[in-house]
Amino acid sequence: MNDIRIDLGLRRVINAAGTMTALGASIAAPQAIEAASAILGQFVEIGELQKLASRTIADVCDTEAGFVTASCAAGLTLAVAGTMTGIDLGAVERLPDTSAFSTSQVVIQSGHLINYGAPIEQSIRLTGASVVPVGQATTAYRYHLESAITERTAAAVYVVSHHTVQYGLIELAEFIEVSHAHGVPVIVNAASEYDLKGFLAMGADICLYSAHKFMGGLTAGIVAGRVAPVRHAYAQNFGIGRGMKVGKEGIYGAIAAMRAWGRRDHVADRTRQESHLALWARVLAERPGVRAEILPDPTGNPLRRLRVFMSPDAARITAWDLADSLATGERPIIVRDDEIDEGYFDLDPCNLQEEEEHVVASRLAETLDAALEAKSPRHTPVSDRRNRTAAALSRWPD
Ligand SMILES: *Cc1c(COP(=O)(O)O)cnc(C)c1O
Repeated sequence: MNDIRIDLGLRRVINAAGTMTALGASIAAPQAIEAASAILGQFVEIGELQKLASRTIADVCDTEAGFVTASCAAGLTLAVAGTMTGIDLGAVERLPDTSAFSTSQVVIQSGHLINYGAPIEQSIRLTGASVVPVGQATTAYRYHLESAITERTAAAVYVVSHHTVQYGLIELAEFIEVSHAHGVPVIVNAASEYDLKGFLAMGADICLYSAHKFMGGLTAGIVAGRVAPVRHAYAQNFGIGRGMKVGKEGIYGAIAAMRAWGRRDHVADRTRQESHLALWARVLAERPGVRAEILPDPTGNPLRRLRVFMSPDAARITAWDLADSLATGERPIIVRDDEIDEGYFDLDPCNLQEEEEHVVASRLAETLDAALEAKSPRHTPVSDRRNRTAAALSRWPD
């Protein structure tokens, strides 16, 4: 078998978690891989390549302009910076010193202050702006936003993601209406959302996507929107954006992935994913202490996942011990575990390679059987697992 991971001594992980940066984001689309290798051996004028990216983004997002940067997180930093500097290149070079600006505050709902591997508010503060939280973790009303916006407000940031609180907050249409009524531009972080047009169509000034998620580009971020705010964000490449530089392969890889996305057979993708879900649901049916339910994506992306609820007494294993067990062995399986302390995890079929669905099915069965037969139940404290990442970082690179 031709698998680079074997040569590198890396584990041949099976990604049943979804599109995770920590697992290498996605399997790049063949068109993106070809595009990257076609351009890597050539000199190109990056500014001209970015203009091609702008036309491609304008086309697929049905908007005015765009550019490619290192990541969606980078796009957020650049977009926020642009709302403070405009096209003043001196100001671009002065960031993150914002003392001379009339506006340097960014409003964002408290329920949107997420962590996507790093805190979103830090991606905003990198510009020198300060973050003004709107409302509380699970509550935000129109009056909270109206009261948070002042003459010092530079931008309003809105996040569309399963990471955010999904209830009790201001919806995008109202968020845009209130912000625009006060003359404040709206930046939407839609990193993992399949809808490339809707948020801009609703009036967002800039919308940000990850190129390396569902679309299968190389690692990059897509900044899309009205020409003036996009131009101001682009200008940051000559300031704080320098360290967020994307190479020619990332830019052209994103262009190729966007083009390929429009031509992809999405129906065939869905059909394959649904058959994986059905297979896993069959394997889990009638097992003591296990209940599986197919659920739609919380933000309306066209994909479903299998949620596996564990009753640890009957199954003799907790959800997190099962997940940890699946993540060991010849073919480690990584499940979607954001909410695992609630006693469940999700199996996401969207990133599986050929035949891996059967490995997942048989490992689930084996692991659950072994738990029932084991002398003692596996009920470890979930806090041990939650603290593991920090502990591992303190030992890195060992
Ligand atoms: C993945 C993700 C990000 C980070 O995207 P990168 O392109 O990896 O920087 C930011 N916000 C949300 C909501 C995400 O899902």
